[in-house]
Amino acid sequence: MPQKKPFHVMIIPTLGCPSKCSYCWSSEEGSPIMSIDTIKETVEWLKVFRDDPVTFTFHGGEPLLAGADFYRKALPMLTEGLAHLKPNFALQTNLWKLTPELAEVLAEHSIPIGSSLDGPQELNDLQRSEGYYERTMQGYEIAKAHGLSVQFICTFTSHSVKFKEDIFNYFLENGLTLKLHPALPSLRGDNPKKWALDPEEYGELLVYLLDKYLENIGRIEVRNIDDYCRCVFTGRGTVCTFVDCMDNTFAVGPDGSIYPCYRFVGMPEYVMGNVRDHPSMEDLAQSDAWKHMHQFKDYVNSECKKCKHIRYCRGGCPYNAMVPSSGEIKGVDPHCVAYKRIFDEITDRFNKEILGGFPGMEMGVCQSRAPRNTGPGIMTLMQKIISK
Ligand code: SF4
Ligand code: SF4
Repeated sequence: MPQKKPFHVMIIPTLGCPSKCSYCWSSEEGSPIMSIDTIKETVEWLKVFRDDPVTFTFHGGEPLLAGADFYRKALPMLTEGLAHLKPNFALQTNLWKLTPELAEVLAEHSIPIGSSLDGPQELNDLQRSEGYYERTMQGYEIAKAHGLSVQFICTFTSHSVKFKEDIFNYFLENGLTLKLHPALPSLRGDNPKKWALDPEEYGELLVYLLDKYLENIGRIEVRNIDDYCRCVFTGRGTVCTFVDCMDNTFAVGPDGSIYPCYRFVGMPEYVMGNVRDHPSMEDLAQSDAWKHMHQFKDYVNSECKKCKHIRYCRGGCPYNAMVPSSGEIKGVDPHCVAYKRIFDEITDRFNKEILGGFPGMEMGVCQSRAPRNTGPGIMTLMQKIISK
């Protein structure tokens, strides 16, 4: 039996967004809103595109700008029209536009929501925009009242990293899962690197969060650390940054154009086709954008071949890699330094714990302890991840 290969289609109903976050690189004023006809064509395209499980993520810009009526029609179309692909859904939104009416539609399909919050109100509003926190919290209350699950992504910038302890404590004290994202250099504005998190600092931040996570194990979940541990222990990546995303991730822009990922939406040189033409994989593979993405894969195979983490890191995110050189492939993801730092740290600690034995194992419970550390170690964390 050929193995099924799950794939991911990001639907970008618009690149417009009512917020003006300082470091945002993915919104565009005056962007059109996707018509329901584009969803209809997306269904027709995917009916024969491939026979694998699909996950749809509504992303933006701000996807809720499309309104309740759009989702009331789009969700059943995708669910019923593509029932054979067993579709799953997710939505990434700042929640400002979430109304009880919209929440009801999303709840009918049990859509998990990802939102953004950079920590305590003052810090969040300084780097996102004045009043952002309040508006997101209003939407969060509506989501909770309708039984929707919401997880927040925290963007760490060159500024907020100075307040990493306050941010960690904010997520811990509010019972929120912490998923972090480093601010990328912006493609807009006069000073594109102003908010970007330096890769060395990002690496230090990850190790800091690993320590804080172990100190507070059972009281918080730090999603990225779980992902890094899974990479090291299973030898394969589980998030798009750490797999070859190019064959299994696609994005549909407001006008039906198909891109390799939401990060490229709105850039004509990355259009691989249009849903209206119902292209096959072979058709998409003829496009320059597809070929360019695959050149990155080949580049990683040669550039990272001596790296012990290549199997699961795969050179990181191709978009991140191409931004510094205006689209040319001249390097891997600049966060390579940070990835190596955290992958090495997890591997070294694991090896030390193995050599030091596992105190607690004799009790039938793995309470591994790092040498020179009285708290839980990597093995304890792994046990927790596996048991989930
Ligand atoms: S380009 Fe980057 S963000 Fe997009 S799917 Fe690939 S790894 Fe993920
Ligand atoms: S850690 Fe760096 S060198 Fe190693 S595979 Fe990842 S990007 Fe390549």
